[in-house]
Amino acid sequence: MTELITTHTHTNFCGHATGSIHDMVNAAQAAGITTMAITEHYPLTPHFDPHDYISMHKDRVNEYIQTIDNERRAHSSMDILTGCELDWLGDSEDRTISNEDLKPFDVILGSVHFVDQWAFDDPEQRHHWDDVGVDEIWKRYFEIWCEAASSDRPFTIMSHPDLVKKFGYRPTYDPQPLYDQAAEAAMAGHRLIELNTSGAYYACKEVFPAPNLLKAFCHAGVPATVGTDAHQVETVARDIKSAYKDLYEAGYRELTVPTHSGDFRKIPLDD
Ligand SMILES: [Zn+2]
Ligand SMILES: [Zn+2]
Repeated sequence: MTELITTHTHTNFCGHATGSIHDMVNAAQAAGITTMAITEHYPLTPHFDPHDYISMHKDRVNEYIQTIDNERRAHSSMDILTGCELDWLGDSEDRTISNEDLKPFDVILGSVHFVDQWAFDDPEQRHHWDDVGVDEIWKRYFEIWCEAASSDRPFTIMSHPDLVKKFGYRPTYDPQPLYDQAAEAAMAGHRLIELNTSGAYYACKEVFPAPNLLKAFCHAGVPATVGTDAHQVETVARDIKSAYKDLYEAGYRELTVPTHSGDFRKIPLDD
């Protein structure tokens, strides 16, 4: 398969990524990417993000959307999608987000970065892992993930499904029952899942999701896409081809790709 797809990228609209939208799009084009979703972190309140480090400031959303529109006009050979990565905060949700607010987005990533208000993947809050315990955190994480996947938030894609493994902390039990529940929830919510290639570069040294979780998604019939979760121009197309291989090995025979026109196209995966 010659097309390169990434439906998960960041820009300097948030405080922890470096590439401008313009630079990210140009890097994607140079790498041969044909579909790119720009999916900046949707604004959080100051309670969760006091320094606009995690997410884009709410006053910049219009500018963000317009900048992507301009890039789309300048790059007719690529399908550029306006997206966002929207945190599922569960009972701790402190924003009012209407359908109107989400209307400009072609693709909405559903993400769980918070377990009961705690940013479990933040290196600075890592000590909390010792306080609560890995076994319990995994269980709780998947509970929340399933809640998100089957919620009525219009998530298109559930991103990095087993982000909980980021630091390499693994439960003492077999997580397969949690994987099966996740597959069921994604199916119930009519979501896509992404194979997120960034995982291989964290302590867990493995893409998201793990092979057995990916197999569970495939077995349940959950469609899959690929996201690089790039936070700088250098990684915009990182490992996309090996992601196709992982998907094929898990049983997938096609990639499901959202489009700017609002539907999905299928691309066959070959071995
Ligand atoms: Zn994320
Ligand atoms: Zn992301």
